[in-house]
Amino acid sequence: SGDDVRYTRVMLKISGEALMGDQGFGLHPPTVERIAREIQSVHALGVEICLVIGGGNIFRGLQGSAQGMERTTADYMGMLATVMNALAMQGALESLGVYTRVISAITMNEVAEPYIRRRAIRHLEKKRVCIFAAGTGNPYFTTDTAATLRASEMDCEAIFKGTKVDGVYDKDPAKHADAKRYESVTYDEVLAQHLGVMDASAIALARENDLPIIVFSLDEPGGFRTILSGKGTFTRVH
Ligand code: UDP
Repeated sequence: SGDDVRYTRVMLKISGEALMGDQGFGLHPPTVERIAREIQSVHALGVEICLVIGGGNIFRGLQGSAQGMERTTADYMGMLATVMNALAMQGALESLGVYTRVISAITMNEVAEPYIRRRAIRHLEKKRVCIFAAGTGNPYFTTDTAATLRASEMDCEAIFKGTKVDGVYDKDPAKHADAKRYESVTYDEVLAQHLGVMDASAIALARENDLPIIVFSLDEPGGFRTILSGKGTFTRVH
């Protein structure tokens, strides 16, 4: 049962790469659908859900600029990539009967709503999943910062960061058999030890707003729901 879920409004942040499945690039519709089901199972408990999806499966500003593009142009392309991912997730969620809104930080009225804070809050109250697209709308930022910003604005209780591993480790668990997972870690420790949770500006903003970040594995079936019940393995950044 969902009785043990203590959250009423949460932010889920996933990278664009989470949507590409085993492909090296782009969108893998069965994977998008699998994650949509994870979201559906939490939505069914009545939890209000904000969602931010990255764009790294399609385009990253830093990669473009390393190849000679102007950084800001490359970053806008990265933001546009997140809109594609948002639309894919919207389609998957709606086909499962979950009502959604895509809300873009860059106005493009034909495909998404503009971001208006009070309107987004109203959508959440009506149990529509709000998919925040186009990052913060500014170059030089990431979707981790966008997730932290929107979570603060929407008054979310926590940010759930779905990754490939079940938390934050002292070193890369894929490379080191003796890597240790933290049960909990402070913002300052993440910053000082350069733990790869989120980029520094996102961590600083979360610290400023006392917004806990819960890092968990999205590969675990039913993982999102389990974590919302406070079970399973995860790392709490606070
Ligand atoms: N981006 C940006 N401003 C933002 C959010 C994103 O310029 O507020 C651009 C940036 O170029 C970034 C790309 O969009 O590389 C994709 O976002 P991100 O790298 O955060 O995606 P993820 O790694 O989560 O898939």
